[in-house]
Amino acid sequence: MLYRLKDAGYEAHLVGGGVRDLLLGREPKDFDVATDAHPGQIKAVFRNCRLIGRRFRLAHVHFGREIIEVATFRAQHSGDDAGGITEEGRIIRDNVYGTVEDDAVRRDFTVNALYYNIKDFSVVDYAGGMEDLEAGMLRLIGDPEVRYREDAVRMLRAVRFAAKLGFRIHPEAEAPIFELGHLLQEIAPARLFEEVLKLFMGGSAVQSYELLSHYNLLQYLFPQTAALLESDQHGFFHALILRAMENTDARIAAGKPVTPAFLYAVLMWMPMQQRAKVLRSDGMTEVQSICEAGGEVLAEQSRCVVFPKRFSLQTREIWQLQPRLKRTTGKGPLRLLAHPRFRAAYDFLLLRAEAGETHQPLCDWWTEFQLENPEVIAQAAQRAALNKRPRRRPRKKPAADKPAGGSGASE
Ligand code: ATP
Ligand code: MG
Repeated sequence: MLYRLKDAGYEAHLVGGGVRDLLLGREPKDFDVATDAHPGQIKAVFRNCRLIGRRFRLAHVHFGREIIEVATFRAQHSGDDAGGITEEGRIIRDNVYGTVEDDAVRRDFTVNALYYNIKDFSVVDYAGGMEDLEAGMLRLIGDPEVRYREDAVRMLRAVRFAAKLGFRIHPEAEAPIFELGHLLQEIAPARLFEEVLKLFMGGSAVQSYELLSHYNLLQYLFPQTAALLESDQHGFFHALILRAMENTDARIAAGKPVTPAFLYAVLMWMPMQQRAKVLRSDGMTEVQSICEAGGEVLAEQSRCVVFPKRFSLQTREIWQLQPRLKRTTGKGPLRLLAHPRFRAAYDFLLLRAEAGETHQPLCDWWTEFQLENPEVIAQAAQRAALNKRPRRRPRKKPAADKPAGGSGASE
């Protein structure tokens, strides 16, 4: 890949998280390539290449199921040239080509600005990233406050990398986070959802959650959750979330699947319950109130962080099955076993018991009941497998991950 560009006479560097993770001895999630070839020239070198992005053209080079993102070196706007930056200092356009040095200084952290040069197998370090990598330090390139104002998502990225790599955020990069968190309110809700997924489904959910709380950032991602955590006198809600995050990390470490639907069921559980209680005092039944409150709190949540319908429907099902799990007589239990969301609802019930919200004997009853009815479980699993058709075109990342602005710096 890199050689094809080099042989065509261009500079080609591996850059970003791929280089960082390789140097740390971790398995990189994906690879990004930076080059001095322009998009049209990249396309001429690779037949299996598609150009994407309107504001900033990127090339996606396909290798079977893999997609490698190839971007032309970019330069930072200087601020007064043709208004690439808003009055508040936020980047809105990011489409000026530059040299590899220009490309390095517009990146976020020094450890993310290391370039692996294919020509001589050297690591090129324009920002002091090697030293920070060895020290386990996240240092922003340039003035931290300016860089957060350009793109507030960098605060979430600081938290995410600190959680994932176990690095410290440099004091100078850390201090402004307490002041500037509110800037996240101006970030597109779809982009925030992608960040939430990376924070909580990247294997370091516990750390991410604790750091988000520490830096008072949770209120900008999950305002209703953060508000209830404030008044969570017995620490029950906090315990529930923590257990869920621990489970999520353990599942990821074991290679088991995780879904944001479950995570949201946990994070939004108390807000939903609180609203449902009000609705019940107005005369609704328990089932109705959960249905209605679930819709309301998730709609409210979606205003700051988009939560796609395919997940929110599942979250609501997990909630709606909770009262049904209380009934252990009649035909209900058998029918419930066959429900596509039974397993998630049962796992959720276990969590609630661990956090002290419901009784362990009820969980034990369901555990036993499943063991007694293996054929029902097997049938349900079979049906689920049939419904899950493989996607035709695998993507490297969800579409909203890198909106037209390339590596995310321009949203
Ligand atoms: P991950 O392991 O999660 O993929 P990453 O560092 O590769 O981490 P990406 O989102 O894939 O993160 O971005 C690739 C690179 O693009 C980063 O390493 C960084 O150099 C640059 N980048 C991404 N987002 C931003 C941003 N908001 N501001 C500045 N540079 C960014
Ligand atoms: Mg990456």
